[in-house]
Amino acid sequence: MFIIYVVFVLMKKKYTVLIFTDLDGSLLHRDTFKFDNIVNYLKDLISKGVIIIPNSSKTEVEILEFNKELGINLPYISENGSVVNGLNEINSNLPEKIILSRDKEEILKSFKKEIPENLRNKCQMISKMSEEKQTKILGLTNNDLHNALDRKYSIPLIFNGKKEDKNNLLKILKNLNLTLQQGGRVLNLCDNVNKAKSMLKVIKIYKKIEKNVKIIAVGDNYNDLEMLRSSDIPCLVFNDQFKLDEININNCLVSKNSAPEGWSEVVKMALEKIE
Ligand SMILES: [Mg+2]
Repeated sequence: MFIIYVVFVLMKKKYTVLIFTDLDGSLLHRDTFKFDNIVNYLKDLISKGVIIIPNSSKTEVEILEFNKELGINLPYISENGSVVNGLNEINSNLPEKIILSRDKEEILKSFKKEIPENLRNKCQMISKMSEEKQTKILGLTNNDLHNALDRKYSIPLIFNGKKEDKNNLLKILKNLNLTLQQGGRVLNLCDNVNKAKSMLKVIKIYKKIEKNVKIIAVGDNYNDLEMLRSSDIPCLVFNDQFKLDEININNCLVSKNSAPEGWSEVVKMALEKIE
């Protein structure tokens, strides 16, 4: 009887760990976008069966470039939760693509039609700027810049207005079922999607093939907080532009280092917590 109990406990303790992670400033260095210092740790986790799913405001091509650099085809969520790609890489019964957003053109059409001109004029689209200015804002050049602007579901912009104007804009957008999401460098005009919703969608689908899961979420900025809040073990990578007292998440693990080292630091803490 005792043996059966022990076997039961051991079996019960077995879960698959899913890590949903932001990229820029969390897993990738905020300025250089490098992650060489933790690449071996990442590969080690993956070889042990941990499922890592980048969940980023980056575009599909940008995350594919990241996968190429890593040398592993990770499933991923791009453009702030707009689309999930490559779940079939984990299990062939899972879908290859789940689109959760309207197309960029449709979003823009609604934006142009419904947002008053005085507010629209305060929104400076990154795509309309000179290449020099785009580089300055996004910290990217040539092909990397081109890949970052190759968006299907979201429109990066800078808002030049008072807080009051921005609140007004947010209110109108909400009625249109649109969102304006703060990223590390720009705002993104998106459909009514976010990193948390897409994460929860993936978890729901994944649980059809495997019930015992533990969810770790890693982020460094405001647009990651809801994702962190919706996970089992929220992890924040230190970011000096982020005020820690604004987190307001129970049991959030916080790294001392910034990305990329801070990523392995919090993930190790999270995995110890699970064991
Ligand atoms: Mg980030």
